[in-house]
Order: sequence, then C-alpha cells, then structure tokens
Amino acid sequence: MGSVKKNKLLREIPSVDEVLRSPDIKKVSKEYNRSMILRAVQLILEDKRKTILLMDESMTENLQKLQPVNAEDIRQKIIHMKEPSFKRVINATGIIIHTNIGRAPLSDDAVQAVTDAARYYSNLEFDISTGKRGQRYSHVKGLLQDITGAESGIVVNNNAAAVLLCLSTFAKGYEVIISRGEMIEIGDSFRIPEIMEQSGAKLVEVGSTNRTHLEDYKNAITKNTKMILKVHTSNYRIVGFTSEVELAELNKLAKKNNLPLLLDMGSGNFIKAEELGLKDEPTVQDEVLSGADIITFSGDKLLGGPQAGIIVGKNKFLDLLAKNPLNRALRIDKLTLAALEATLKAYALSEENAADIPVIKMLKLSEPELKNRAEVLAQAINDRGSSDKAEIVKDSSQVGGGAYPLNDIPTYAVAVDTAPLAVNAFENMLRKLTPPVIARIKNDRVLFDMRTLLDDEIEILPNLICSIIKKNS
Ligand SMILES: *Cc1c(COP(=O)(O)O)cnc(C)c1O
Repeated sequence: MGSVKKNKLLREIPSVDEVLRSPDIKKVSKEYNRSMILRAVQLILEDKRKTILLMDESMTENLQKLQPVNAEDIRQKIIHMKEPSFKRVINATGIIIHTNIGRAPLSDDAVQAVTDAARYYSNLEFDISTGKRGQRYSHVKGLLQDITGAESGIVVNNNAAAVLLCLSTFAKGYEVIISRGEMIEIGDSFRIPEIMEQSGAKLVEVGSTNRTHLEDYKNAITKNTKMILKVHTSNYRIVGFTSEVELAELNKLAKKNNLPLLLDMGSGNFIKAEELGLKDEPTVQDEVLSGADIITFSGDKLLGGPQAGIIVGKNKFLDLLAKNPLNRALRIDKLTLAALEATLKAYALSEENAADIPVIKMLKLSEPELKNRAEVLAQAINDRGSSDKAEIVKDSSQVGGGAYPLNDIPTYAVAVDTAPLAVNAFENMLRKLTPPVIARIKNDRVLFDMRTLLDDEIEILPNLICSIIKKNS
C-alpha cells in the first residue's frame, strides 16, 4: 500500500540523464572520469529511492520536496566508492588480541616482509643454491626448532586447521580421547569438537566438566583409540573444585599404549607469561620438554604474528602430517609465511627484538608509561575541546583472544565526558570517523585505553575525538 505522497516523491526522482545534464554536475566532470560520475549518480538516485520507500507516513508528509543532486553529493559518493570496506581501525578497547578487529597487529619487520613477498617473486618453493624445487616450510622450520627445542615444525592456515590436520592424519575413522572440561567453543559459535569431528575422528569424552583423572583416560582406551588430545582451555576457566591431568602424566600413559599425545595450546607463547605480567602458564618450550608428541598453537594470539597454525613436535609424526593431502588444502599462503618468518626471527634473535612485536610491546608497557601516555592524550583533548572533558582513570586491559581470561592487567585510560551527547551516541560517532575509533564504555563514560593505542594514534586521537565534541557542543 504505497501512499499517494510516497508515489509523488518517487516520481520526483530525476533520471540519470537529467542529473548529468544539470549545470552543477558539469563542475565535477573535470575532476573525475565520466564512468565514475555516472556510477555515482546511479547510486545516489538508488539511495534516494530506498530512503523514500523506507519512510513512514509522517516523514513523507513532512518532506515537501526532494533535494536535487548537486556536485558535492557526487564528490562525497565518489570518495565513499573509493574507500575500502576492509580498513584500519583504532583499537582503544584495551583488549590486545581482539578477535573482531584483527587480533595481532604486525611488527615493522613483518610488514616489510609481507610487502616484499607481495610485490616481488620469491624463493617460496625454490632452492636458490640448487636451482631446484624447494620447500615452503624450510623458511620457518629451523626457527621453530631453535625457539621451541622441538625436532620439527610445520605451519598451516590457522590453529583450527592444525588440529584438524592432526586428527585427520592419525585418527580418521578411529577414537580420540579428550577431557570433557576441554570441549571448548572458540568464538563465533564454532566449537572445537565440531571442527574436530570434520576430521572423521570420533571424540571420546572422559571425566566431568570440572574434574578429570588419569583413571578416566586409562579406562577409555580401546583397540580403536588412536590418539590422546589435550586442549589448553584458554578462553575460559573453571575455578574452584577442579582437577586436570598433568601433561607429563598423560604423556606416560600415551607412551605405554603407543598413542601419540596431541596438545592444542591455543595461544602459544614463547616468552614466560610472568615476564609479560601474566599469571604463569607453560611456554611452548616447556610443553615440548613435558613430552607432548605434537603441539599446535595460533600465530596471531600471544605470539603476535600473522594468522597461522603452527605445529611443532617429533619428526616421525610431523613427516606424516606434511604428507597428508589435506595439508595441501590447508597450506599457509606466501604473505603469511613472510610475516611469520619475520616474527619468529625476532624471538630467535633476542629479547629486545621480540619486544618490538606489538602484542609483546603492549603487554610490557609499564604503569608509569601508560600513565604518561594518558596524561598526554587527556591534556591534548582538554587543550582543544572545552576544558575538563577528559580525565585520567586507572582501569584494566585484557589479553583477549581467549587467552588468560582471569588476568586483568592494570592500565591507564582517558575517560571522556560525552555530555550533551549520550555515551552510546558518542561511541557510535567514534566508529564513523576516518579511521574509525573503537572505544570502551564504562560507568557511563567513554574510555580510551592507552595500552592498545599505537604511538602515532595517540597523536591523531585528540583531533578525532574533538571533532565530535566540537560538532555537538
Ligand atoms: C583460538 C584457539 C583455537 C583456534 O585457533 P585459530 O588460530 O583461531 O584457528 C583452537 N584451540 C584453542 C584452544 C584456541 O584457544
């Protein structure tokens, strides 16, 4: 049931030709080529149509006449057309490994490596010394051996793929034993068990959600068992009356029954968690020493590299993984490989080099440094805006990415009083800026956590924030 008024407005929409003939539009024809202008006009007219169709009765009554399309509309539309959908955002949330906004930003060295790999041909699978075919993994294998102490290492597209490849290689059509307390969901409603089942392996759950004993594993072993799997429950913790079986104990049981032991670490770290201000948990090196046969972890969680699934472990198992045809489907791409090699090299070189990896740098920021950054930002906002809008507050950051869920990391943030705007409206406007700013809302204030802001972002933030304050004061 279209209203009379609505139909009248729809008929007022000019044709593309009419718009293109108008004198005002001729002004932009020197700035852009004809096909761009044509496309922009088509989109603008489509927008107008959609807007009218979505209006309710009272709105159509209030709208007397349709605004004509002018040169500025076309300029804005073309700017919008050129802008990528996938773009940089500023992370002021204080969540370091924020899954929705790209997890780990890369180090300068990693970015340079990606640029070179993208722009030029490379020795991706080419042995320069012999002129023959080489191996994709050769570029990171030695680094993984050096850093973790494992016999071998390979890499795939992501950690979920790494686990899938392991299960498919060793337990397709057979049973894998896993503790019920480790059947975790990894965000976006993907459940690890569901991904695992895609391998064709049958998961045999043992124990209860909070307690699993060695006996539970022992009793579940049958002639169909091909593997024991331990998952690091990195995105949640059951606190209180809990019990899990130590990796070393599980390793003994696996060896006795001639079964490989797979450990999915999730967020694998090479640096001791204590040194990063986190509650101590084993490093990848520790777990290699504990005797896990195969260990998998993400490239872009605490490691601070690109999205990748890293697998380290014993030669006899990793050789079989490399040969599985599924490995070809899950293989790492060359840009990722370039970023991963640069990231691993930083760890292999020295502690100072590793400290240049943004995730590590953010974790290592001290309270005085954070406070100092907050003072600089608050001062800059107050200097530009009407004063006293910004204030320094003590708060806590999070690791994110499902890692260290109980670990609040002390931080400093700048809290901005958004009046006369509502906090939600202000936060919404922050997301519409170029670049969009993703902030945190707490106690009816918008917070900018200093831990996840990069140095150059602290310089541009005051103008971005004040553009909203000024427009609405
Ligand atoms: C994050 C996580 C995964 C998935 O890793 P991706 O790199 O996101 O594929 C698998 N297992 C555990 C325990 C995790 O924490």
